Amino acid sequence: MKCVYCGKEYTEGGSKINVSNGTFDVCCNECKKQVRDYLEKDMQYKNKSYIMIFCGSIGFILSTFVFSGTYKLVPMYLGMIIAGLALVLYPYIFQSFITFTRYPIRKADRAVRIAGGLIIVISLAFLAMTFGGRS
Ligand SMILES: [Zn+2]
Repeated sequence: MKCVYCGKEYTEGGSKINVSNGTFDVCCNECKKQVRDYLEKDMQYKNKSYIMIFCGSIGFILSTFVFSGTYKLVPMYLGMIIAGLALVLYPYIFQSFITFTRYPIRKADRAVRIAGGLIIVISLAFLAMTFGGRS
């Protein structure tokens, strides 16, 4: 069996956790608790993260259709920062239990947060270049 949370392979002990779309193996009670917390946060923050991603995409639209010239891409970079923040703060929506069979929750969670962090850093770098070039 493989733990859906930490990804550890185990042969005995462990238990199962029931969620809406199936039953999954967990290696210990601690992992079981983490999965429960995860699902709770998922429910709690889903709307917030959607709103942030939505705001982020407005940046893309502004850059594409409204802004022009030197600062054309600034709204897009700001939008990317917001979307990156959403990934770092609320990585929940980008995962589903289907993918957990391949990627344990803990790993997927970390990967999404790192990706979000990278997006923020890259956007800040582009912003700095945009404004730095003018001075
Ligand atoms: Zn585990």
